Amino acid sequence: MAVIGVDLGTTNSLCCVWKDGGCVLIPNSLGEYLTPSVVSVDEKREILTGKAARERLVTRPQDTAASFKQFMGTDKTYMLNRLRFHPEDLSAIILRRLKEDAELFLGEPVTEAVISVPAYFNNNQRTMTKIAGEMAGLTVERIINEPSAAALAYRHKTGANGTYLVVDFGGGTLDISVVEIFENIVDIIAVAGDNHLGGDNIDQALAEAFYKRHPGLKDKLSETEKASVLKMAEQSKINLSFAEQTMMVYVHEGKTYEMVLTNQLLADICAPILAKIKAVLLHALKDSGRHISAIDEIILVGGSGKMPVIKEYLTYITGKTPRNDIDPDKAIVLGVGIVTGIKARDKHVQDLIMTDICPFTLGTNIYDPASNDADIFSPIIERNTSLPVSQAHTYTTVRDFQTQVVINVYQGESMSVKNNLLLGTITMPVPSMPAGKAAVVVRFTYDINGILEVDVTCLQSGEHQSKLIVTNHNLSDSELRERREIMSRLKTPPREQDQNRFLLERGARLYEESTGALRELVAYEMSLLSSVLERNAHVSEIEMARNRFMQFLNSVDRPDEEIYLQGGTP
Ligand code: AMP
Repeated sequence: MAVIGVDLGTTNSLCCVWKDGGCVLIPNSLGEYLTPSVVSVDEKREILTGKAARERLVTRPQDTAASFKQFMGTDKTYMLNRLRFHPEDLSAIILRRLKEDAELFLGEPVTEAVISVPAYFNNNQRTMTKIAGEMAGLTVERIINEPSAAALAYRHKTGANGTYLVVDFGGGTLDISVVEIFENIVDIIAVAGDNHLGGDNIDQALAEAFYKRHPGLKDKLSETEKASVLKMAEQSKINLSFAEQTMMVYVHEGKTYEMVLTNQLLADICAPILAKIKAVLLHALKDSGRHISAIDEIILVGGSGKMPVIKEYLTYITGKTPRNDIDPDKAIVLGVGIVTGIKARDKHVQDLIMTDICPFTLGTNIYDPASNDADIFSPIIERNTSLPVSQAHTYTTVRDFQTQVVINVYQGESMSVKNNLLLGTITMPVPSMPAGKAAVVVRFTYDINGILEVDVTCLQSGEHQSKLIVTNHNLSDSELRERREIMSRLKTPPREQDQNRFLLERGARLYEESTGALRELVAYEMSLLSSVLERNAHVSEIEMARNRFMQFLNSVDRPDEEIYLQGGTP
Protein backbone atom coordinates (compact mmCIF):
# COMPACT_ATOMS: atom_id res chain seq x y z
CA MET A 1 0.00 0.00 0.00
CA ALA A 2 1.29 3.41 -0.97
CA VAL A 3 2.38 6.15 1.42
CA ILE A 4 1.50 9.65 0.26
CA GLY A 5 3.37 12.86 1.03
CA VAL A 6 1.12 15.82 1.80
CA ASP A 7 1.79 19.54 2.00
CA LEU A 8 -1.31 20.55 3.94
CA GLY A 9 -1.03 24.26 3.20
CA THR A 10 -2.90 27.21 4.63
CA THR A 11 -3.98 28.29 1.15
CA ASN A 12 -3.39 25.27 -1.07
CA SER A 13 -2.62 21.62 -0.44
CA LEU A 14 -0.59 19.24 -2.60
CA CYS A 15 -0.09 15.53 -2.56
CA CYS A 16 2.61 13.28 -4.02
CA VAL A 17 3.95 9.75 -4.02
CA TRP A 18 7.48 8.38 -4.35
CA LYS A 19 7.54 6.21 -7.46
CA ASP A 20 10.29 4.74 -9.62
CA GLY A 21 13.01 6.72 -7.87
CA GLY A 22 11.27 10.10 -8.06
CA CYS A 23 8.54 12.21 -6.59
CA VAL A 24 5.31 12.19 -8.60
CA LEU A 25 2.70 14.89 -7.98
CA ILE A 26 -0.91 13.68 -7.85
CA PRO A 27 -3.56 15.63 -9.78
CA ASN A 28 -7.00 16.36 -8.30
CA SER A 29 -10.38 15.83 -10.01
CA LEU A 30 -9.83 18.99 -12.09
CA GLY A 31 -6.44 17.68 -13.25
CA GLU A 32 -4.57 20.27 -11.16
CA TYR A 33 -1.88 19.82 -8.49
CA LEU A 34 -2.91 22.65 -6.19
CA THR A 35 -6.14 22.03 -4.28
CA PRO A 36 -7.31 25.15 -2.43
CA SER A 37 -7.58 24.38 1.31
CA VAL A 38 -11.14 25.66 1.41
CA VAL A 39 -14.31 23.91 2.59
CA SER A 40 -17.88 25.04 1.98
CA VAL A 41 -21.27 23.54 2.89
CA ASP A 42 -24.05 24.07 0.34
CA GLU A 43 -27.83 24.31 0.70
CA LYS A 44 -28.17 20.50 0.45
CA ARG A 45 -25.55 20.24 3.20
CA GLU A 46 -23.09 18.72 0.77
CA ILE A 47 -19.43 19.41 1.44
CA LEU A 48 -17.52 21.21 -1.29
CA THR A 49 -13.73 21.45 -1.31
CA GLY A 50 -11.00 22.96 -3.48
CA LYS A 51 -11.73 25.41 -6.28
CA ALA A 52 -15.55 25.08 -6.13
CA ALA A 53 -15.42 25.93 -2.41
CA ARG A 54 -13.01 28.81 -3.06
CA GLU A 55 -15.49 30.47 -5.42
CA ARG A 56 -17.99 30.43 -2.56
CA LEU A 57 -15.66 32.50 -0.37
CA VAL A 58 -17.16 35.40 -2.33
CA THR A 59 -20.74 34.20 -2.84
CA ARG A 60 -21.29 32.35 0.47
CA PRO A 61 -18.57 33.51 2.90
CA GLN A 62 -20.75 32.60 5.89
CA ASP A 63 -20.87 28.94 4.80
CA THR A 64 -17.23 28.71 3.68
CA ALA A 65 -14.00 28.29 5.65
CA ALA A 66 -10.44 29.08 4.52
CA SER A 67 -7.06 29.52 6.24
CA PHE A 68 -8.26 27.21 9.05
CA LYS A 69 -4.78 25.72 9.40
CA GLN A 70 -3.87 28.82 11.41
CA PHE A 71 -6.35 27.76 14.06
CA MET A 72 -5.35 24.09 14.39
CA GLY A 73 -5.10 23.12 18.05
CA THR A 74 -7.37 25.97 19.21
CA ASP A 75 -11.00 25.90 20.36
CA LYS A 76 -12.20 27.90 17.36
CA THR A 77 -15.22 26.42 15.61
CA TYR A 78 -16.86 27.16 12.28
CA MET A 79 -20.62 27.04 11.68
CA LEU A 80 -21.17 26.32 8.00
CA ASN A 81 -24.80 25.97 6.93
CA ARG A 82 -25.75 24.83 10.46
CA LEU A 83 -22.98 22.21 10.61
CA ARG A 84 -20.26 22.80 13.20
CA PHE A 85 -16.60 22.10 12.42
CA HIS A 86 -13.31 22.34 14.27
CA PRO A 87 -10.16 23.29 12.35
CA GLU A 88 -8.98 19.65 12.45
CA ASP A 89 -12.31 18.49 10.94
CA LEU A 90 -11.82 20.87 8.02
CA SER A 91 -8.23 19.68 7.58
CA ALA A 92 -9.51 16.10 7.65
CA ILE A 93 -11.96 16.92 4.84
CA ILE A 94 -9.09 18.23 2.70
CA LEU A 95 -6.93 15.20 3.56
CA ARG A 96 -9.75 12.83 2.70
CA ARG A 97 -10.05 14.54 -0.64
CA LEU A 98 -6.31 14.21 -1.34
CA LYS A 99 -6.43 10.55 -0.28
CA GLU A 100 -9.24 9.90 -2.79
CA ASP A 101 -7.28 11.65 -5.55
CA ALA A 102 -4.24 9.51 -4.72
CA GLU A 103 -6.24 6.27 -4.66
CA LEU A 104 -7.74 6.99 -8.03
CA PHE A 105 -4.36 7.98 -9.48
CA LEU A 106 -2.52 4.96 -8.06
CA GLY A 107 -5.31 2.43 -8.40
CA GLU A 108 -4.75 1.13 -4.89
CA PRO A 109 -5.86 2.01 -1.35
CA VAL A 110 -3.83 4.63 0.49
CA THR A 111 -3.79 4.39 4.28
CA GLU A 112 -0.55 6.10 5.29
CA ALA A 113 0.82 9.60 4.93
CA VAL A 114 3.75 11.84 5.78
CA ILE A 115 2.47 15.37 6.40
CA SER A 116 4.41 18.61 6.67
CA VAL A 117 3.61 21.32 9.21
CA PRO A 118 5.15 24.74 9.91
CA ALA A 119 8.25 24.31 12.07
CA TYR A 120 6.66 26.55 14.62
CA PHE A 121 3.59 24.35 15.12
CA ASN A 122 3.37 23.47 18.80
CA ASN A 123 2.64 20.07 20.30
CA ASN A 124 -1.14 20.65 20.10
CA GLN A 125 -1.08 21.72 16.48
CA ARG A 126 1.04 18.71 15.48
CA THR A 127 -1.23 16.36 17.39
CA MET A 128 -4.32 17.85 15.76
CA THR A 129 -2.70 17.40 12.35
CA LYS A 130 -2.21 13.70 13.17
CA ILE A 131 -5.81 13.46 14.35
CA ALA A 132 -7.01 15.13 11.15
CA GLY A 133 -5.11 12.41 9.26
CA GLU A 134 -6.77 9.69 11.35
CA MET A 135 -10.21 11.19 10.76
CA ALA A 136 -9.47 11.04 7.04
CA GLY A 137 -8.51 7.34 7.31
CA LEU A 138 -4.77 7.97 7.14
CA THR A 139 -2.16 6.81 9.62
CA VAL A 140 0.27 9.69 9.86
CA GLU A 141 3.65 7.97 9.60
CA ARG A 142 5.60 11.10 10.20
CA ILE A 143 5.09 14.83 10.68
CA ILE A 144 7.94 16.86 9.23
CA ASN A 145 8.77 20.53 9.35
CA GLU A 146 7.99 22.43 6.15
CA PRO A 147 11.40 24.19 5.92
CA SER A 148 13.16 20.85 6.39
CA ALA A 149 11.13 19.53 3.45
CA ALA A 150 11.97 22.58 1.31
CA ALA A 151 15.69 22.24 2.09
CA LEU A 152 15.56 18.55 1.24
CA ALA A 153 13.96 19.30 -2.12
CA TYR A 154 16.58 21.97 -2.81
CA ARG A 155 19.43 19.61 -1.87
CA HIS A 156 17.94 16.89 -4.06
CA LYS A 157 17.66 19.23 -7.03
CA THR A 158 20.98 21.09 -6.81
CA GLY A 159 23.18 18.62 -4.91
CA ALA A 160 24.74 21.73 -3.32
CA ASN A 161 26.46 21.84 0.07
CA GLY A 162 26.29 24.96 2.23
CA THR A 163 24.41 26.88 4.89
CA TYR A 164 21.00 28.14 3.87
CA LEU A 165 18.32 30.40 5.19
CA VAL A 166 14.99 28.88 4.15
CA VAL A 167 12.26 31.53 4.11
CA ASP A 168 8.81 30.00 3.73
CA PHE A 169 6.22 32.76 3.40
CA GLY A 170 2.76 31.40 2.64
CA GLY A 171 -0.82 32.55 2.97
CA GLY A 172 -1.01 32.47 6.74
CA THR A 173 2.38 31.51 8.13
CA LEU A 174 6.01 32.54 8.02
CA ASP A 175 8.79 30.08 8.84
CA ILE A 176 12.46 30.99 8.66
CA SER A 177 15.08 28.29 9.22
CA VAL A 178 18.83 27.96 9.13
CA VAL A 179 19.73 24.70 7.43
CA GLU A 180 23.13 23.15 6.80
CA ILE A 181 23.54 20.73 3.95
CA PHE A 182 26.71 18.69 3.81
CA GLU A 183 27.01 15.62 1.59
CA ASN A 184 24.02 13.49 2.51
CA ILE A 185 23.13 15.21 5.73
CA VAL A 186 20.50 17.93 5.91
CA ASP A 187 20.83 19.54 9.34
CA ILE A 188 18.21 21.96 10.66
CA ILE A 189 20.12 24.33 12.93
CA ALA A 190 17.45 26.78 14.02
CA VAL A 191 13.87 27.68 13.24
CA ALA A 192 11.79 30.72 14.01
CA GLY A 193 8.38 31.70 12.78
CA ASP A 194 5.07 33.42 13.09
CA ASN A 195 1.92 31.32 12.77
CA HIS A 196 -0.22 34.32 12.02
CA LEU A 197 1.75 36.17 9.36
CA GLY A 198 1.30 35.60 5.65
CA GLY A 199 -0.16 36.78 2.35
CA ASP A 200 -3.61 37.00 3.99
CA ASN A 201 -2.31 39.83 6.19
CA ILE A 202 -1.04 41.64 3.11
CA ASP A 203 -4.48 41.32 1.45
CA GLN A 204 -6.11 42.70 4.60
CA ALA A 205 -3.66 45.59 4.79
CA LEU A 206 -4.26 46.39 1.11
CA ALA A 207 -8.05 46.28 1.52
CA GLU A 208 -7.78 48.62 4.52
CA ALA A 209 -5.59 51.02 2.51
CA PHE A 210 -8.25 50.97 -0.22
CA TYR A 211 -11.00 51.77 2.30
CA LYS A 212 -8.86 54.57 3.72
CA ARG A 213 -8.53 56.06 0.25
CA HIS A 214 -12.34 55.95 -0.06
CA PRO A 215 -13.76 57.01 3.31
CA GLY A 216 -17.24 55.67 4.05
CA LEU A 217 -17.07 52.83 1.53
CA LYS A 218 -16.39 50.06 4.06
CA ASP A 219 -19.48 50.90 6.14
CA LYS A 220 -21.72 50.58 3.09
CA LEU A 221 -20.58 47.04 2.24
CA SER A 222 -22.11 43.72 3.19
CA GLU A 223 -19.91 40.80 4.28
CA THR A 224 -20.12 39.36 0.75
CA GLU A 225 -19.03 42.67 -0.77
CA LYS A 226 -16.15 42.97 1.69
CA ALA A 227 -15.05 39.47 0.63
CA SER A 228 -15.05 40.74 -2.99
CA VAL A 229 -12.86 43.70 -2.05
CA LEU A 230 -10.46 41.33 -0.29
CA LYS A 231 -10.32 39.12 -3.36
CA MET A 232 -9.69 42.18 -5.54
CA ALA A 233 -6.90 43.22 -3.13
CA GLU A 234 -5.30 39.77 -3.40
CA GLN A 235 -5.52 39.85 -7.21
CA SER A 236 -3.94 43.34 -7.28
CA LYS A 237 -1.10 42.07 -5.07
CA ILE A 238 -0.56 39.12 -7.44
CA ASN A 239 -0.63 41.49 -10.46
CA LEU A 240 2.32 43.31 -8.94
CA SER A 241 4.39 40.12 -9.23
CA PHE A 242 4.20 40.70 -12.99
CA ALA A 243 4.09 44.50 -13.34
CA GLU A 244 5.29 47.64 -11.58
CA GLN A 245 1.81 49.10 -11.42
CA THR A 246 -1.80 47.92 -11.28
CA MET A 247 -5.20 49.48 -10.70
CA MET A 248 -7.39 48.43 -7.79
CA VAL A 249 -10.98 48.81 -8.98
CA TYR A 250 -14.23 48.17 -7.15
CA VAL A 251 -17.71 49.07 -8.42
CA HIS A 252 -20.47 49.61 -5.87
CA GLU A 253 -23.99 50.82 -6.66
CA GLY A 254 -22.86 52.17 -10.01
CA LYS A 255 -19.93 54.13 -8.56
CA THR A 256 -16.35 53.14 -9.42
CA TYR A 257 -13.72 53.26 -6.67
CA GLU A 258 -10.07 53.13 -7.79
CA MET A 259 -6.57 53.20 -6.42
CA VAL A 260 -3.30 52.99 -8.33
CA LEU A 261 -1.03 50.44 -6.70
CA THR A 262 2.72 50.27 -7.24
CA ASN A 263 5.27 48.02 -5.61
CA GLN A 264 6.58 51.08 -3.75
CA LEU A 265 3.12 51.81 -2.32
CA LEU A 266 2.63 48.12 -1.52
CA ALA A 267 5.96 48.14 0.34
CA ASP A 268 4.80 51.17 2.35
CA ILE A 269 1.47 49.51 3.17
CA CYS A 270 3.33 46.33 4.16
CA ALA A 271 5.89 48.14 6.34
CA PRO A 272 4.58 46.66 9.63
CA ILE A 273 4.51 43.18 8.02
CA LEU A 274 8.06 43.59 6.68
CA ALA A 275 9.24 44.62 10.15
CA LYS A 276 7.76 41.40 11.54
CA ILE A 277 9.56 39.36 8.85
CA LYS A 278 12.84 41.01 9.84
CA ALA A 279 12.24 40.18 13.51
CA VAL A 280 11.66 36.49 12.69
CA LEU A 281 14.74 36.41 10.44
CA LEU A 282 16.93 37.90 13.19
CA HIS A 283 15.48 35.42 15.67
CA ALA A 284 16.46 32.49 13.42
CA LEU A 285 20.00 33.84 12.84
CA LYS A 286 20.48 34.61 16.52
CA ASP A 287 19.35 31.13 17.59
CA SER A 288 21.66 29.57 14.99
CA GLY A 289 24.59 31.63 16.29
CA ARG A 290 25.40 32.63 12.70
CA HIS A 291 25.96 36.03 11.17
CA ILE A 292 24.28 36.61 7.80
CA SER A 293 27.74 36.44 6.16
CA ALA A 294 27.87 32.73 7.12
CA ILE A 295 24.73 32.07 5.01
CA ASP A 296 25.51 30.91 1.46
CA GLU A 297 22.04 31.25 -0.05
CA ILE A 298 18.50 32.28 0.81
CA ILE A 299 15.92 29.77 -0.43
CA LEU A 300 12.54 31.43 -0.83
CA VAL A 301 9.42 29.23 -0.90
CA GLY A 302 5.66 29.65 -0.35
CA GLY A 303 3.16 31.59 -2.47
CA SER A 304 3.98 34.98 -0.94
CA GLY A 305 7.64 34.40 -1.73
CA LYS A 306 6.74 35.29 -5.33
CA MET A 307 6.17 38.94 -4.37
CA PRO A 308 8.88 41.32 -5.64
CA VAL A 309 8.35 43.41 -2.49
CA ILE A 310 9.35 40.43 -0.36
CA LYS A 311 12.31 39.45 -2.56
CA GLU A 312 13.59 43.04 -2.60
CA TYR A 313 13.13 43.48 1.11
CA LEU A 314 15.07 40.29 1.86
CA THR A 315 17.82 41.41 -0.52
CA TYR A 316 17.85 44.81 1.18
CA ILE A 317 18.22 43.50 4.73
CA THR A 318 20.56 40.57 3.99
CA GLY A 319 22.55 41.77 0.98
CA LYS A 320 21.77 38.44 -0.75
CA THR A 321 19.36 37.79 -3.61
CA PRO A 322 16.98 34.95 -2.71
CA ARG A 323 17.05 31.82 -4.88
CA ASN A 324 13.95 30.12 -6.13
CA ASP A 325 15.27 27.20 -8.16
CA ILE A 326 12.22 25.11 -7.37
CA ASP A 327 8.67 26.30 -7.99
CA PRO A 328 7.87 27.95 -4.60
CA ASP A 329 4.44 26.28 -4.60
CA LYS A 330 5.87 22.78 -4.97
CA ALA A 331 9.15 22.85 -3.00
CA ILE A 332 7.59 21.57 0.23
CA VAL A 333 5.55 18.72 -1.22
CA LEU A 334 8.57 17.56 -3.25
CA GLY A 335 10.60 17.44 -0.02
CA VAL A 336 7.82 15.53 1.76
CA GLY A 337 7.86 13.09 -1.18
CA ILE A 338 11.58 12.53 -0.63
CA VAL A 339 10.87 11.69 3.02
CA THR A 340 8.38 9.04 1.90
CA GLY A 341 11.17 7.73 -0.38
CA ILE A 342 13.64 7.64 2.54
CA LYS A 343 11.05 5.84 4.67
CA ALA A 344 10.52 3.27 1.93
CA ARG A 345 14.35 2.82 1.86
CA ASP A 346 14.40 3.65 -1.83
CA LYS A 347 17.92 3.25 -3.20
CA HIS A 348 17.91 6.73 -4.79
CA VAL A 349 17.53 8.54 -1.48
CA GLN A 350 18.27 6.00 1.25
CA ASP A 351 21.64 7.62 2.02
CA LEU A 352 20.02 10.95 2.83
CA ILE A 353 19.85 11.78 6.48
CA MET A 354 17.71 14.57 7.76
CA THR A 355 18.11 15.76 11.30
CA ASP A 356 15.53 17.92 12.94
CA ILE A 357 15.24 20.08 16.00
CA CYS A 358 12.82 20.80 18.76
CA PRO A 359 11.39 24.18 17.72
CA PHE A 360 10.33 25.25 21.23
CA THR A 361 11.59 24.98 24.80
CA LEU A 362 10.20 22.25 27.05
CA GLY A 363 10.42 22.42 30.82
CA THR A 364 8.64 22.48 34.14
CA ASN A 365 7.82 25.04 36.83
CA ILE A 366 9.75 25.71 40.00
CA TYR A 367 8.97 27.52 43.19
CA ASP A 368 11.03 30.49 44.36
CA PRO A 369 10.63 30.77 48.16
CA ALA A 370 12.16 34.29 48.15
CA SER A 371 9.35 35.69 46.03
CA ASN A 372 6.76 33.00 46.89
CA ASP A 373 6.34 32.55 43.13
CA ALA A 374 5.51 29.04 41.88
CA ASP A 375 5.16 30.04 38.25
CA ILE A 376 8.82 30.27 37.28
CA PHE A 377 9.73 28.30 34.16
CA SER A 378 12.63 25.85 34.40
CA PRO A 379 13.70 24.80 30.88
CA ILE A 380 14.86 21.19 30.45
CA ILE A 381 15.14 20.93 26.66
CA GLU A 382 16.04 24.30 25.09
CA ARG A 383 14.54 25.23 21.71
CA ASN A 384 16.60 24.30 18.64
CA THR A 385 18.17 21.25 20.32
CA SER A 386 18.84 18.48 17.77
CA LEU A 387 16.50 15.49 17.89
CA PRO A 388 16.36 12.91 19.34
CA VAL A 389 17.29 14.36 22.72
CA SER A 390 17.11 13.21 26.33
CA GLN A 391 17.93 15.57 29.21
CA ALA A 392 17.47 15.40 32.98
CA HIS A 393 17.30 17.90 35.85
CA THR A 394 17.14 17.23 39.58
CA TYR A 395 14.65 19.13 41.74
CA THR A 396 14.49 19.13 45.54
CA THR A 397 11.53 19.74 47.84
CA VAL A 398 10.83 23.33 48.91
CA ARG A 399 8.69 22.84 52.02
CA ASP A 400 9.39 20.88 55.21
CA PHE A 401 7.73 17.46 55.24
CA GLN A 402 5.98 17.79 51.90
CA THR A 403 4.71 14.40 50.71
CA GLN A 404 4.54 14.89 46.97
CA VAL A 405 6.10 16.79 44.09
CA VAL A 406 3.93 17.94 41.18
CA ILE A 407 5.76 18.10 37.86
CA ASN A 408 3.91 20.24 35.33
CA VAL A 409 5.22 19.92 31.78
CA TYR A 410 5.25 23.16 29.78
CA GLN A 411 6.15 24.23 26.29
CA GLY A 412 7.08 27.84 25.56
CA GLU A 413 9.64 30.55 26.00
CA SER A 414 8.19 32.77 28.72
CA MET A 415 9.81 33.05 32.17
CA SER A 416 6.33 32.77 33.68
CA VAL A 417 4.68 29.41 32.95
CA LYS A 418 1.30 31.17 32.87
CA ASN A 419 2.24 32.31 29.37
CA ASN A 420 3.42 28.86 28.26
CA LEU A 421 1.40 25.84 27.16
CA LEU A 422 0.67 23.14 29.78
CA LEU A 423 1.19 19.74 28.16
CA GLY A 424 0.65 17.42 31.13
CA THR A 425 1.28 16.73 34.81
CA ILE A 426 2.93 13.95 36.84
CA THR A 427 2.51 13.73 40.62
CA MET A 428 5.28 11.88 42.45
CA PRO A 429 5.04 10.88 46.18
CA VAL A 430 8.22 11.70 48.15
CA PRO A 431 9.28 10.68 51.70
CA SER A 432 8.35 13.27 54.33
CA MET A 433 11.66 15.05 55.11
CA PRO A 434 12.91 18.59 55.81
CA ALA A 435 12.86 20.97 52.82
CA GLY A 436 15.63 20.33 50.31
CA LYS A 437 16.28 16.76 51.49
CA ALA A 438 13.98 14.81 49.14
CA ALA A 439 14.76 14.99 45.43
CA VAL A 440 13.34 13.87 42.09
CA VAL A 441 15.11 13.48 38.76
CA VAL A 442 12.99 14.65 35.85
CA ARG A 443 14.03 13.37 32.43
CA PHE A 444 12.53 14.66 29.17
CA THR A 445 13.03 12.59 26.03
CA TYR A 446 11.88 14.11 22.74
CA ASP A 447 11.95 11.86 19.69
CA ILE A 448 12.25 12.57 15.98
CA ASN A 449 8.44 12.65 15.54
CA GLY A 450 8.00 15.32 18.19
CA ILE A 451 6.72 12.94 20.85
CA LEU A 452 7.72 13.80 24.38
CA GLU A 453 8.28 11.23 27.14
CA VAL A 454 8.67 12.42 30.71
CA ASP A 455 10.27 10.18 33.40
CA VAL A 456 10.29 11.12 37.06
CA THR A 457 12.32 9.16 39.66
CA CYS A 458 12.40 9.82 43.39
CA LEU A 459 16.03 9.53 44.55
CA GLN A 460 15.11 8.46 48.10
CA SER A 461 12.38 5.86 47.41
CA GLY A 462 13.54 4.84 43.93
CA GLU A 463 9.92 5.10 42.75
CA HIS A 464 9.62 5.79 39.06
CA GLN A 465 6.83 7.18 36.87
CA SER A 466 6.79 7.65 33.15
CA LYS A 467 4.33 9.46 30.91
CA LEU A 468 4.11 9.79 27.17
CA ILE A 469 2.93 13.28 26.28
CA VAL A 470 1.69 12.67 22.80
CA THR A 471 -1.40 14.73 22.98
CA ASN A 472 -2.84 17.61 24.83
CA HIS A 473 -6.24 17.61 23.22
CA ASN A 474 -9.41 17.33 25.22
CA LEU A 475 -10.79 14.52 23.07
CA SER A 476 -11.41 11.18 24.69
CA ASP A 477 -11.24 8.04 22.54
CA SER A 478 -15.03 7.86 22.40
CA GLU A 479 -15.31 11.51 21.36
CA LEU A 480 -12.73 10.91 18.68
CA ARG A 481 -14.67 7.88 17.41
CA GLU A 482 -17.85 9.93 17.37
CA ARG A 483 -16.17 12.76 15.45
CA ARG A 484 -14.82 10.23 12.95
CA GLU A 485 -18.29 8.82 12.47
CA ILE A 486 -19.81 12.26 11.93
CA MET A 487 -17.10 12.91 9.36
CA SER A 488 -17.82 9.68 7.52
CA ARG A 489 -21.52 10.59 7.29
CA LEU A 490 -20.83 13.95 5.61
CA LYS A 491 -22.14 14.02 2.07
CA THR A 492 -19.91 15.07 -0.78
CA PRO A 493 -21.07 15.54 -4.38
CA PRO A 494 -19.97 12.73 -6.74
CA ARG A 495 -16.44 13.27 -7.95
CA GLU A 496 -17.44 13.24 -11.62
CA GLN A 497 -19.53 16.35 -10.96
CA ASP A 498 -16.60 18.34 -9.59
CA GLN A 499 -15.90 20.11 -12.86
CA ASN A 500 -19.59 21.09 -13.34
CA ARG A 501 -19.85 22.18 -9.76
CA PHE A 502 -16.75 24.36 -10.01
CA LEU A 503 -18.04 25.98 -13.22
CA LEU A 504 -21.45 26.75 -11.71
CA GLU A 505 -19.89 28.20 -8.54
CA ARG A 506 -17.59 30.30 -10.71
CA GLY A 507 -20.61 31.50 -12.69
CA ALA A 508 -22.45 32.35 -9.45
CA ARG A 509 -19.48 34.38 -8.29
CA LEU A 510 -19.22 36.19 -11.61
CA TYR A 511 -22.97 36.94 -11.48
CA GLU A 512 -22.57 38.60 -8.08
CA GLU A 513 -19.53 40.54 -9.17
CA SER A 514 -20.99 41.90 -12.41
CA THR A 515 -23.88 44.20 -13.26
CA GLY A 516 -26.21 45.04 -16.19
CA ALA A 517 -25.86 43.22 -19.51
CA LEU A 518 -22.95 41.01 -18.41
CA ARG A 519 -24.93 39.87 -15.39
CA GLU A 520 -27.89 38.90 -17.59
CA LEU A 521 -25.58 37.06 -19.93
CA VAL A 522 -24.02 35.10 -17.05
CA ALA A 523 -27.49 34.12 -15.82
CA TYR A 524 -28.50 33.00 -19.30
CA GLU A 525 -25.35 30.92 -19.90
CA MET A 526 -25.64 29.36 -16.43
CA SER A 527 -29.26 28.38 -17.08
CA LEU A 528 -28.22 26.61 -20.30
CA LEU A 529 -25.66 24.47 -18.51
CA SER A 530 -27.92 23.85 -15.48
CA SER A 531 -30.82 22.66 -17.64
CA VAL A 532 -28.59 20.15 -19.48
CA LEU A 533 -27.23 18.87 -16.15
CA GLU A 534 -30.65 18.69 -14.52
CA ARG A 535 -32.24 16.56 -17.20
CA ASN A 536 -29.39 14.04 -17.05
CA ALA A 537 -28.57 14.53 -20.70
CA HIS A 538 -26.20 12.32 -22.69
CA VAL A 539 -22.51 12.61 -21.80
CA SER A 540 -21.65 14.21 -25.13
CA GLU A 541 -24.36 16.84 -24.70
CA ILE A 542 -23.14 17.64 -21.19
CA GLU A 543 -19.60 17.88 -22.53
CA MET A 544 -20.73 20.33 -25.23
CA ALA A 545 -22.69 22.50 -22.78
CA ARG A 546 -19.78 22.50 -20.38
CA ASN A 547 -17.27 23.49 -23.02
CA ARG A 548 -19.53 26.31 -24.18
CA PHE A 549 -19.90 27.61 -20.61
CA MET A 550 -16.17 27.26 -19.95
CA GLN A 551 -15.35 29.24 -23.10
CA PHE A 552 -17.86 31.88 -22.10
CA LEU A 553 -16.35 32.17 -18.59
CA ASN A 554 -12.82 32.29 -19.93
CA SER A 555 -13.78 35.14 -22.25
CA VAL A 556 -15.41 37.30 -19.57
CA ASP A 557 -13.81 36.19 -16.30
CA ARG A 558 -10.12 36.64 -16.99
CA PRO A 559 -7.46 37.59 -14.44
CA ASP A 560 -6.54 41.29 -14.61
CA GLU A 561 -2.93 40.41 -15.35
CA GLU A 562 -4.02 38.64 -18.53
CA ILE A 563 -6.28 41.50 -19.65
CA TYR A 564 -4.03 44.40 -18.82
CA LEU A 565 -0.52 42.99 -19.02
CA GLN A 566 -0.39 40.25 -21.60
CA GLY A 567 -1.78 42.06 -24.60
CA GLY A 568 -5.48 41.39 -23.96
CA THR A 569 -8.26 43.87 -24.62
CA PRO A 570 -9.77 45.46 -21.51
P1 AMP B 1 0.81 29.23 0.10
O1 AMP B 1 0.16 29.19 1.48
O2 AMP B 1 2.27 28.94 0.13
O3 AMP B 1 0.03 28.46 -0.93
O4 AMP B 1 0.73 30.77 -0.36
C1 AMP B 1 -0.48 31.38 -0.61
C2 AMP B 1 -0.28 32.87 -0.61
O5 AMP B 1 0.55 33.24 -1.71
C3 AMP B 1 -1.58 33.64 -0.78
O6 AMP B 1 -1.61 34.73 0.13
C4 AMP B 1 -1.52 34.14 -2.21
O7 AMP B 1 -2.21 35.37 -2.38
C5 AMP B 1 -0.02 34.33 -2.40
N1 AMP B 1 0.42 34.25 -3.79
C6 AMP B 1 0.25 33.22 -4.65
N2 AMP B 1 0.77 33.54 -5.86
C7 AMP B 1 1.27 34.79 -5.76
C8 AMP B 1 1.95 35.69 -6.68
N3 AMP B 1 2.20 35.36 -7.94
N4 AMP B 1 2.32 36.90 -6.19
C9 AMP B 1 2.05 37.26 -4.93
N5 AMP B 1 1.44 36.46 -4.02
C10 AMP B 1 1.05 35.25 -4.43
